[in-house]
Amino acid sequence: MYGGIEAGGTKFVCAVGTGPGDLLLSGPIPTTTPRETMKQVMAFFAPHRPRAVGIGSFGPVNLAAGRIARTTPKVAWRGYALRRAVEQALGVPVVLDTDVNAAAWGEHIFGGAPDPFLYVTAGTGIGGGGVVNGQLLHGKLHPEMGHLLLRRAAGDTFPGLCPAHQDCLEGMASGLAVAARRKTGEQHFVAEYLALGLLSLSYAYSPLRIILGGGVMKTPGLRAQVRNRMRELNAGYAPLPAITGPRLGDCSGVLGALALAHLLAGNG
Ligand SMILES: [Zn+2]
Repeated sequence: MYGGIEAGGTKFVCAVGTGPGDLLLSGPIPTTTPRETMKQVMAFFAPHRPRAVGIGSFGPVNLAAGRIARTTPKVAWRGYALRRAVEQALGVPVVLDTDVNAAAWGEHIFGGAPDPFLYVTAGTGIGGGGVVNGQLLHGKLHPEMGHLLLRRAAGDTFPGLCPAHQDCLEGMASGLAVAARRKTGEQHFVAEYLALGLLSLSYAYSPLRIILGGGVMKTPGLRAQVRNRMRELNAGYAPLPAITGPRLGDCSGVLGALALAHLLAGNG
């Protein structure tokens, strides 16, 4: 069996198994400090002895070094060598990728998502990953799809919440922005920015599908609103991708981490 860790900004979820039909999940483990959180993570894996472990982590992540980047707003985790910590504790090979790339890999392997496709999550923050030519999207660090700088919607006076850019996609349409906008009844702008963001990503990557998930997308009708607005903004210019929800529900990330472990162990 393999191990998967979805290392989220608010909670970690661990799993052992081989896929959706053979999966043992941990309960949610709060993301507090590496010392406290990792103790519970190791306690979950100890009786199971997985052959390899995959991790999908909140970011930014220095993938080459296997560390949480020093620029993360989660102060206790700055520079934390997450990959090495798991390798040393369990004595097995470990692969680290972003939370969104792990979720993309899960949807690709177990959810039938076609190549090329993107996975975008609109939750507390906004992020995206994807598969192109059979490979997860990497780069100098990794894509930061949530920080696209977009045309401001007419009449929108919301300043935005991103500490780096203020009014980037995440700053204008993340779960935190949605909560702040709720007071002023400006939620229709959220669909506008998500449509602008997804359309820009469609033009850059020409994906067959964009899976749009995350807590914000649990709002009834929002995905259809985004899809319709994309069609309007595109004005017939380029063929658009299908916009769907994640087929694996809330398990895309942890299942993807598991599948990355499988790949690492050489049975992909
Ligand atoms: Zn930003």
